[in-house]
Amino acid sequence: MMTNAETPLSPPDATSVIEVQDLYKSYGNLEVLKGVSLRAPRGHVISLIGSSGSGKSTLLRCCNLLEDSQSGEILFEGEPVRWKKTSSGRVAADRAQVTRMRTNLSMVFQQFNLWSHLTVLQNVMEAPVTVLGRSRAEVEPRARELLAKVGIGDKADAWPAQLSGGQQQRAAIARALCMEPKALLLDEPTSALDPELQQEVVKVIKALAAEHRTMLLVTHDMRLAADVSDHVVFLHQGRIEEQGPPAQLFGAPKTERLCQFLSASM
Ligand code: ADP
Ligand code: MG
Repeated sequence: MMTNAETPLSPPDATSVIEVQDLYKSYGNLEVLKGVSLRAPRGHVISLIGSSGSGKSTLLRCCNLLEDSQSGEILFEGEPVRWKKTSSGRVAADRAQVTRMRTNLSMVFQQFNLWSHLTVLQNVMEAPVTVLGRSRAEVEPRARELLAKVGIGDKADAWPAQLSGGQQQRAAIARALCMEPKALLLDEPTSALDPELQQEVVKVIKALAAEHRTMLLVTHDMRLAADVSDHVVFLHQGRIEEQGPPAQLFGAPKTERLCQFLSASM
């Protein structure tokens, strides 16, 4: 499924693409993240697991600066986000920095969120053209290559509604990749799919992991997390309850809460 005509990726190393230090995030009186720290070194896959409501999506959205936060640091490629205080908390101060982070951290959502009025190819080309200002002529071959890479090269001219859920999600992944991001942030990319369609998306995620794409992956699929992750983080009520390599987390969980979570999820 993968083509070899890929842009070479930097080898995995210790540089963090994204790093969060002691992050606190509240919605009104509800404290959702209570001092979370994590890092995604270049070329690594970090999976976030935990019950519904534990703060996984909020954490991903904070990484992408789609949410503001109360305190703590967020660093992109080692550079800390500069904050400006507001009455509700704080917001990123520097538009250029926000844009740089958003364009370099591409999100993939549970519900795909393809634009229904654009063809699949147009969906993939839209952001590089309108946000990055690249020419259509330059972007189109790359967009087609990415559609082929995720196994839907023949669907370029279809409308999203004509695709299965699994095909739509693969189109959404191609769209995210076409921004040539430094990392992918995936929020339960298989959760909206029927079991038989989950596998085609799982296959794409595994292929991306094998080529050392940096990914922050929120998933309910413990088998996927076990297969692709370099590091797994278990969130419980806004705190990291346990973390480590997948063999340790899934093979020898230490905390009672993780044991309970795993026995309910596997
Ligand atoms: P998860 O992705 O782990 O299921 P979320 O990050 O979506 O958890 O949510 C964590 C908590 O924050 C939940 O209690 C949820 O209801 C709350 N929450 C999420 N988004 C908002 C919001 N925009 N406004 C208020 N509360 C929110
Ligand atoms: Mg969520």
